[in-house]
Amino acid sequence: MRSALEVLFPMYDKCGFCDRRTYRNGMCKMCLKEVEMIRGAICERCGRPMGQATLCVDCFQRKETYFMCNRSAVLYNGKMKEMLSLYKFRGQETLAHTFALFLESAYRQYYQRVNFDYITFVPVHEERLRERGFNQAQQLAFQLSLRTKIPVLSLLTKIKNTDKQSKKHRSQRLHTLYNAFHVRPFPARIKRVLLVDDVYTTGTTVNECARVLNKAGIIVYSLTVAR
Ligand SMILES: [Zn+2]
Ligand SMILES: [Zn+2]
Repeated sequence: MRSALEVLFPMYDKCGFCDRRTYRNGMCKMCLKEVEMIRGAICERCGRPMGQATLCVDCFQRKETYFMCNRSAVLYNGKMKEMLSLYKFRGQETLAHTFALFLESAYRQYYQRVNFDYITFVPVHEERLRERGFNQAQQLAFQLSLRTKIPVLSLLTKIKNTDKQSKKHRSQRLHTLYNAFHVRPFPARIKRVLLVDDVYTTGTTVNECARVLNKAGIIVYSLTVAR
């Protein structure tokens, strides 16, 4: 059966990733098959799938962790990598819809009972924003807000342009990201926020965002589409 959205907006008829017909969540059967949902035991800190719920090696070795925890909906496998870069660089609207559904399901699974004042997002540098035209994390944050009724507040700006971040090693990333983010002035009553991003890889970005937000007295939980 078609959802109301699919009737109203025919673009939802077509898979966001290929030309086949939509089966569920804006994706065709074939593409959906390649998406691996994260289920079962996870690292209690970063949300990585594990044999048992304990800390993973990365979380165990991280010197200081500033975020309470990260949770993600799906594995960052080859398919997800392709889908996320398609979305990031072409801003496919159908994909935004699909990713928002993934985010929402992880939110309902893990964070339903946490009392968030705001949803916020990982910012991009204004130069990058100009090139790309949009910030995927911001778009996802607004999509999640529509579904959860938690308001969005843009709390961070990126003051260092740390392009081609993904090609660097962990220690270099740590170094370049240090003091890359700034906290904007905000209402005095914020206690707890949900930080949204498209993907969690080493945790360096979320940890650095959380560090500056902690300094401003804000507790940070993180939610990403993939990890
Ligand atoms: Zn497809
Ligand atoms: Zn972990």
